[in-house]
Amino acid sequence: MKIGFIGLGNMGAPMAANLTKDHDIIGFDTVAKPADITMAGSAIEAAKDADVVITMLPNGSILRSVAAEIHPAMKPGAIHLDCSTVDVESARAVAAQAETRGLKAVDAPVSGGIGGAQAGTLTFMAGGPGDALADVKPLFDIMGQKAVHCGPAGNGQAAKICNNMILGVTMIATCEAFALADKLGLDRQAMFDVVSTSSGYSWTMNAYCPAPGIGPQSPADNDYQPGFAAELMLKDLNLSQMAAAAADADTPMGQAATALYRQFVEDEGGAGKDFSAMLPRFESRRRG
Ligand code: NAD
Repeated sequence: MKIGFIGLGNMGAPMAANLTKDHDIIGFDTVAKPADITMAGSAIEAAKDADVVITMLPNGSILRSVAAEIHPAMKPGAIHLDCSTVDVESARAVAAQAETRGLKAVDAPVSGGIGGAQAGTLTFMAGGPGDALADVKPLFDIMGQKAVHCGPAGNGQAAKICNNMILGVTMIATCEAFALADKLGLDRQAMFDVVSTSSGYSWTMNAYCPAPGIGPQSPADNDYQPGFAAELMLKDLNLSQMAAAAADADTPMGQAATALYRQFVEDEGGAGKDFSAMLPRFESRRRG
C-alpha cells in the first residue's frame, strides 16, 4: 500500500519505521525528521497519492486542522486512519468530514507506549465502518498484536479513555493503600502477596506494582522513569472528563483522579515521572 504518515514523534516514528518493511511510506512532520522515513515537504504532499493516511498527532485541534488540510487532497475512497489519542467529539467530527468527501475514516488510538510502538506490539481500539477496518487490518498486524473493533466512529477513543480512567483511578487506589499499609506497619511484600491474590488485585498491583522491589519489574524499580508518564495520564483523564461532561455521565472517581494527577503534574513535580510515582507522593503526605 501507499501510506502517508503524518506526525512522526515518539510514537509515530517507530510505527512508520515498522511499516516501511512492507509498504511505501511518505512521512510529514512539522518538526521531526526521522532519517529512516522518506519525507514529503507538506502534509498534502504526503497524503495526495496515499491509499491510507495515518495520523499520530498530539491532540484533537491539531488533528482537526490537519484533516481539514489533507482531506480535499486525498484520493476518493482512501482511508484516514487516526491513531492519536484525542477527544471523542474531534474523532467523530473528522470522520463525518471524511465521509462527506468520499473518504473512509477509522479512529484507532493505541495502548502499549513507545516500547510497544518500537516492538510492533501495540493494541488498537478501533472505531469506524467494518470495511475500512478490514482494509487497514494488515497495517494493525504489523504495528500491533491486537485490534478490537469497538463500533462506529469515535468508539475507539471512547474505549481508550474509559480504560485509562479505570487505570488512573486504580493506580491512585493502589498507591494510597500501600502508603496506608506502611503507616499501619504492614510489610509491602506481605501486602503484595495478599492483594495480588485477593479481591483487591488489579493490573496496577499485579503487573505494574508502584512499590520498588515488589512484584514484577516496573518503572518503580527504575526510579519512576516513564513508562507511562504522569502528564500523559493527566491528558487521558482530562479527555475522560470532557467526554463525561458532553455525555452527561457521572464519574466522581474519574473526576477525583483527574484533580489528583493535575495537582501532581502541575504543582508537585510529577511531570516527567511515571504515573506510578503517586506512591512516593502519598508516602510523604499526611491526612489533610
Ligand atoms: P509526540 O509529541 O512525540 O509526537 C507528535 C508529533 O506530531 C511531533 O513530532 C510533532 O512535531 C508532530 N506534529 C504536531 N503538529 C503537527 C502538524 N500540524 N503536522 C504534522 N506534524 C505535527 O507525541 P507521541 O508521544 O508520539 O504521541 C502521539 C499521540 O499518541 C498522542 O495523541 C498521544 O496521546 C498518543 N499516545 C502516546 C503514548 C506514549 O507513550 N507516548 C501512548 C499511547 C498514545
